[in-house]
This record gives sequence, C-alpha cells and structure tokens, in this order.
Amino acid sequence: MTDLQAIVEDIHAALLPRRGEGRVADYIPQLAHVDARRFGIAVVTVDGAVHLAGDAEEPFSIQSISKVFTLTLALGKHGEALWKRVGREPSGLAFDSIVQLEREEGLPRNPFINAGAIAVTDLVLAGHTPKEAIGEIVRFVRYLADEDDIIVDQAVARSEQATGFRNFALANFMRAFGRLDHPAELVLGVYFHQCALAMSCRQLARAGLFLAANGRNPLTGHRVVSHLRARRINALMLTCGHYDGSGDFAYRVGLPAKSGVGGGILAVAPGKASIAVWSPGLNENGNSLLGSLALEMLAARTGWSVFGA
Ligand code: GLU
Repeated sequence: MTDLQAIVEDIHAALLPRRGEGRVADYIPQLAHVDARRFGIAVVTVDGAVHLAGDAEEPFSIQSISKVFTLTLALGKHGEALWKRVGREPSGLAFDSIVQLEREEGLPRNPFINAGAIAVTDLVLAGHTPKEAIGEIVRFVRYLADEDDIIVDQAVARSEQATGFRNFALANFMRAFGRLDHPAELVLGVYFHQCALAMSCRQLARAGLFLAANGRNPLTGHRVVSHLRARRINALMLTCGHYDGSGDFAYRVGLPAKSGVGGGILAVAPGKASIAVWSPGLNENGNSLLGSLALEMLAARTGWSVFGA
C-alpha cells in the first residue's frame, strides 16, 4: 500500500461517521432520491496510479462538473472568441442567480455559473442538432476518461427538463439580449443532458487528468489542450469553480476544482494528480460538505496546493 492509498483511506474513514450531513439538492426531483450516505474518493496520479476509497466506483450525477468539459470542448471549437459570450470573473452570487445578468446586459460572469454554462452550450450546439451536440459531449467525456460506458442518466435529464424554470428564465433572458444563437429550448435540451452525465469518482478523476498534466492525458498520450489552455481552465476553476464559495474553497483547499449539486467535486493538483470526491449532502453554498472537507484534508496531508508547498 502506498502512502497515498493510506491517506485516501484514512480520510475516508475519518469522515465516514459524518455521512449524511448537509442537504441533498432536491430542486431537481430526481436528485432528491439519491442516498445521502454515499461517499467516495478517487485520486489518479499523473503516472497512472489509482487510489480509491468508499463508493468511488458508483456513478452519480456530475451536474455542474460537466461545465469544465463543455468549456474545454467549446474552446477547442471557437478558441478565444468564446470570451465574447462569457466573462472570466467570479460572480459572488448563487449559481442560478439572475440579478447580475440583468445589470450586465445578459453577459454571464463566468462559464461555471448556470448562465455562463448555458452560453457555452449554445456554442457547442453551433452547426449541430441538439442530439448531435449531446452525442459530441458524451463522446468527448468518454475520450477524456478513456471509458466507453459513460452515459447520460435520462431520468435526471427529464427531471431537469420538467423543473428547470430558472434555467429557462436565464436562457430566455440571454436570448432577449441577443446573447444566444439558438432558442432556449434547444440549448437547454443539451445543457440538461450534459448535467445529467453519470460518472463515478474514478471516471471523473481520469477525465480531469489532462488538467493535472499540462493538457495532455498521460495515460493515453493524447494531447487534449495546449499547456497554456490547461493552465487557464485551472485558473477559472480556482476562481469560479465553487459558486459563491470559491474564495473559501481556495483558502481551505488551494486547488482548482469544480463542484456540482449532485455532490461531486473534481479537483486538480497540477503536476501531481486529479481527484474526484462525491458525497451528496451540500453546504450552504451548494458545494459537497463532506467532499470539501475530504479535499481540505487531502491537501493538508499531501501538501498539494497551487499556492506553494
Ligand atoms: N443542472 C443543474 C442546474 O442547472 C446544475 C447546477 C449545479 O450543479 O450547480 O440547475
């Protein structure tokens, strides 16, 4: 057993008694059915070692973590022109807030809040039917994780479609400002499916590995993005990856990371490893409560931080 495996198991064991803490997201009805006591950790190092603990092999709804993958895909298609559609500043507001959007004329603050992700999905949809765009996103995530069995949880996608009134409001609002090229229903059809991707911690950590390795997947040898682009995506994850809790997360953990309301967090330790944690109970900012604690403990035990050793 390597030290890292022991650390991962220690953290899992230390937090196990706290399983079930936090509040499971229930505004998407299908997510409310998830067992709040699930808890998994996966660490995949840049040299390919895999360290798992708990429910690390169980697929869960990755939700907003998908925004990292669609941003990567859209940057590949549109390059820096993407930044005409979405900003690069933390929002300081809830993930689904509409307030700022009105003041800032429909230009979302960053690609990781809902409005920004919807603008990015609009770009992924360019030249495609929604079905093709969903297919492209799924194929891209499978390619990143090097796993063919990653699928969209259709029940979650339907559940979001049926209840995503705020997202419809955000999308229609942006469309009213001329910020979306496609009708809200089409963009959201794709957006809900990307959010409903089901992945395990292990698959997620593998899919994020290119961000820990200068843009190249060290396991497949594929260059996914340039070194510079990987660095920039990491910068956005650090500053904007945890909604209104991004500053606190950077302070406590010190690693670029993206959370989702399904209770997952994907974190990147550049040059070292990609880490995924999952525990459905959320804290007051909508980020996994136990997941954030697990990453805080992991960063403390390993010394991993982008702010110095
Ligand atoms: N599909 C979710 C929504 O749009 C994603 C939210 C999240 O994970 O932050 O409401």
